[in-house]
Amino acid sequence: MKSGPTIDIHASIQFLKGIGPARTRALAATGIESVSDLLYYFPRRHLNRTSVTELKFIQRDTIVTAIGTVQVCGERKTRKRKFFQATISDGTGLLTLVWFNGAKYISRIVKKDQRLAVNGKIDYFHGHQIIHPEFDILDSDDDPINTSAVIPLYSINQDFKKVRIDNRGLRLMIRSVLENLEQIPDLFTDSFLSQQQLIPLDQALRNIHYAADEQILSNAVRRLKFDEHFFLQLLMALRKASAKTTGAPIIKASGTRFVKIYEQLDFDLTDAQKKVLKEIRNDLGQGVAMNRLLQGDVGSGKTIVALLTAAIVVGNGLQVAVMAPTEILAQQHYQTFNRYAEAAHLTCALLVGNQKVAERRQVLDALVDGRVQIVVGTHALIQEAVDFKKLGLVIVDEQHRFGVIQRGDLVAKGMNPHFLAMTATPIPRTMAITYHGDMDLSIIDEMPANRQPIITKVVEAERLDRVYHFIRAEVARGQQCMIVYPLVEETAKSDLAAASEAYDQLANSEFRDQKVGLLHGRLKPAEKDQIMAAFAANEINILVATTVIEVGIDVPNATIMLVEHAERFGLTQLHQMRGRVGRGKEKSYCILVRRKLTDQADRRLALMERTSDGFEIADEDLKMRGPGEFYGARQSGFVKYKIANMLTDGPLIRQARQAAFELVADDPHLRNPQNQAVRNRFIADYQQMLEIVNIS
Ligand code: ADP
Ligand code: MG
Repeated sequence: MKSGPTIDIHASIQFLKGIGPARTRALAATGIESVSDLLYYFPRRHLNRTSVTELKFIQRDTIVTAIGTVQVCGERKTRKRKFFQATISDGTGLLTLVWFNGAKYISRIVKKDQRLAVNGKIDYFHGHQIIHPEFDILDSDDDPINTSAVIPLYSINQDFKKVRIDNRGLRLMIRSVLENLEQIPDLFTDSFLSQQQLIPLDQALRNIHYAADEQILSNAVRRLKFDEHFFLQLLMALRKASAKTTGAPIIKASGTRFVKIYEQLDFDLTDAQKKVLKEIRNDLGQGVAMNRLLQGDVGSGKTIVALLTAAIVVGNGLQVAVMAPTEILAQQHYQTFNRYAEAAHLTCALLVGNQKVAERRQVLDALVDGRVQIVVGTHALIQEAVDFKKLGLVIVDEQHRFGVIQRGDLVAKGMNPHFLAMTATPIPRTMAITYHGDMDLSIIDEMPANRQPIITKVVEAERLDRVYHFIRAEVARGQQCMIVYPLVEETAKSDLAAASEAYDQLANSEFRDQKVGLLHGRLKPAEKDQIMAAFAANEINILVATTVIEVGIDVPNATIMLVEHAERFGLTQLHQMRGRVGRGKEKSYCILVRRKLTDQADRRLALMERTSDGFEIADEDLKMRGPGEFYGARQSGFVKYKIANMLTDGPLIRQARQAAFELVADDPHLRNPQNQAVRNRFIADYQQMLEIVNIS
């Protein structure tokens, strides 16, 4: 007699049939310990049997999914290279599969008589073939492939293989769990689900593994993606709510210092700069800490916005900390601020890593007693025991360089200043709300009027003579040039070695009549300082540098940026470096020296030639590299996506965001009994973030 469902979702998998101690350990190594973990081990993809093409119907240049049995396979050789080849048949026709890369590895896993599901673009070479197909090894007779239309394909890792858990094994395991599983409780109420047009979690978790058809599967995918976006947005909503509960300084008047600086500017602010300042001033008057991200392409003039904001805050009797990602940039900001400071009666100080102890002591003391109003420095500013008399505003420049620094870190230190982050990396909209969903967004979408477009050219090393000639001519006209060297790997040289070698060579030949300087990260701060100051004063005509120069440097008289080994840089980096020129009235040039040809790099360089639109470049970068790398692994650390996709889920992200913010507006501490399940899942997912939200 069959009894009812007997397995609870929280049950440990070690009690399941067919899972002994060895398999328990192997699964645990992948984080699968409970039935729930097992069900959340989503298929890598699905094979839809109804979309499988019979081999007799396949056509050249189409992308197909096909299933067949390996007839012959083995390593082959042309005169040039080795490859692995397998031919499959489904009884209606033949298809050849070819692997040039990883032939050795493939030869160990693809065997005669195996059934393969393959996917890829059909080529023709003595018959139909796919080069480097996606493929899965299917199992024999009792595989659900024979019964169900949509077949889940899982990732099988090394631990699984050791205990002989293959795709079929996983399918059987999951199927037997599902057959005996009690109804899975939902996180949300029925009314929430119907309002959001989501299927119940119970159905979603079953159908993600075994769906009767594509439509049912896609409903399941939608529900599970929603959950992931929802909980991340819930984190954002809770952070925002917890920031609101604490009192921040109320700043209504702009004050005379602001006016003094404004009057000194020898240009008009752009409309975009004015609009952003208005948004900031509005925030400052609310009594709730500002938490704003200012986005503006390189050269759009963010620094002046920061300075004016700082002047307002100081004018209200508070202090300001400005953080930059590098010492050089901190130096530069310090100088910019100082240039305007005197007339406005502002006291600025610099605080960086390698300062003399006495000097540092002085700055620290002056911050405590309030003599220093603005301190500019590196990350050390908030990491270390730096005390302020009354800190009212923290500005973070080039925020994307820091990883996750948020107001939360400061609040945790017992401060509640306003917070303004600035970034030149234009973040696509869906990504901005994913990563910075707790921040308000301001955008400078306009360049100062006096700018001319920068001319970007990719050149081969052979043409460098002409380029050097051109540089000499520009220098003769009084302009300046930067030459950047990357890390040169195959010669095992550091970027420093490459740059200093080039410096020696160029300074003694091509540019022997020009003043050439060398800037790199290992110089002492005072030396860097001196060199940057000399460059800013046009006492150095040509600055050879490592990538330390990449971010933020502002010398409007420089009109040529020459990037060596440009193929080694990512798009965002190239765009940043190009942003070092074109900052004044003169026409500027970005010369990208290509030393090696590769498909990927050529695409990047061609894009640089074609556009200077930071948003377009960021979008492409994201497509080419994927979000993790784009934003740095550290940043994605708290985004736990198994199934959600930041790039393609735009509408669903917005829906989840709205739902999460509404829920928090109703129930800011998640105390409502109806939200108990949401609360529990949130706590489980975001353990390490709990201290920065207020849900106790
Ligand atoms: P970024 O946004 O890249 O940080 P900066 O703030 O360094 O850009 O500004 C780039 C250059 O443009 C600086 O030399 C700055 O003085 C100048 N600048 C800023 N705003 C304007 C403006 N409205 N009109 C003309 N030049 C401006
Ligand atoms: Mg800047």
